[in-house]
Amino acid sequence: MTATPAARMSRLGWIGLGVMGRSMCGHLLRAGFAVSVYSRTRAKAEPLIEQGAQWCDSPREVAEVADVVFTMVGFPDDVRQVILGPDGALAGSRPGMIIVDFTTSRPALAQEIAAAAAQRGVTALDAPVSGGDIGAREARLSIMVGGDRAAFDALAPCWQLLGKTIVHHGPPGAGQHAKMVNQILIASNMVGLCEALLYAYRAGLDPEKVLASVGAGAAGSWSLSNLGPRILAGDFAPGFYIEHFLKDLAIALEESRRMQLALPGLALAEQLYRAAAAQGCARNGTQALQLALARLSNIDWQRRNG
Ligand code: NAP
Repeated sequence: MTATPAARMSRLGWIGLGVMGRSMCGHLLRAGFAVSVYSRTRAKAEPLIEQGAQWCDSPREVAEVADVVFTMVGFPDDVRQVILGPDGALAGSRPGMIIVDFTTSRPALAQEIAAAAAQRGVTALDAPVSGGDIGAREARLSIMVGGDRAAFDALAPCWQLLGKTIVHHGPPGAGQHAKMVNQILIASNMVGLCEALLYAYRAGLDPEKVLASVGAGAAGSWSLSNLGPRILAGDFAPGFYIEHFLKDLAIALEESRRMQLALPGLALAEQLYRAAAAQGCARNGTQALQLALARLSNIDWQRRNG
């Protein structure tokens, strides 16, 4: 049993108000939706409560007063807890509701959630996003959706407030698979970006000029334009946490193994990011890979001249 496309959706719920969730939830609030919220650390909800969001004490309570519940938490275990747990959204659900998980998580978990939701007459979509903290703030995200097409269509007014590129990829889990494609692209791209900036530094080039030149040519990328300047400025704040990227790389490796794929670029990037985390950068942004790669050449990136 699935939700009808005309599922009522005036009352929204939001679970997880971190770097991404607080910006995304804010767009829905400012557009006039009534939004009930819950997050592990209540302090992170305060700015949204000041803008009119209603605080609830658990994901279950959020679901009890919402027609559509969005989740944006950290890891697959968090997703399991906030949706399938005893105090999770599904426990507070009613038939006809829609649950949308924006977290980057396992495709198999998205399928498990969709099946458990269907048992209660609820539709669950997986909808991981790309575009970073900036994309969330500017409502320019790319949203990759898996699950029931009618529920996807019914949520068009919400998608439009959060992103610019919204694509339905197929059945439950397809959104998460699309996001893994995205992460595989970014993995090798980040290694290339950090190595290129090290080369530019050792060659004595003006790094700003180099970024301007290569960013305008065939080597241009989101990472280069947005994270290149942060690396040069020595700004390694998240952004996108290395510990979250490692979670994604592990899922991508797990899935590629299952599909009998050899993806050596992905495996190398995962190892280099693991080194960065071991060196204390797990809670830095993904651009902090620069610090770990610089150490391989005995360069102290933060103390370099020029
Ligand atoms: P984040 O800042 O850690 O936000 C996650 C939020 O969820 C935090 O506020 C956290 O609470 C809350 N949370 C986690 N587990 C919870 C639970 N069991 N119950 C209630 N609340 C819980 O991370 P983020 O950067 O927003 O990323 C969120 C997800 O989006 C991750 O899967 C990440 O891989 C993905 N993503 C991130 C980016 C990016 O650029 N940041 C881009 C695309 C996708 P606390 O505040 O107590 O920790």
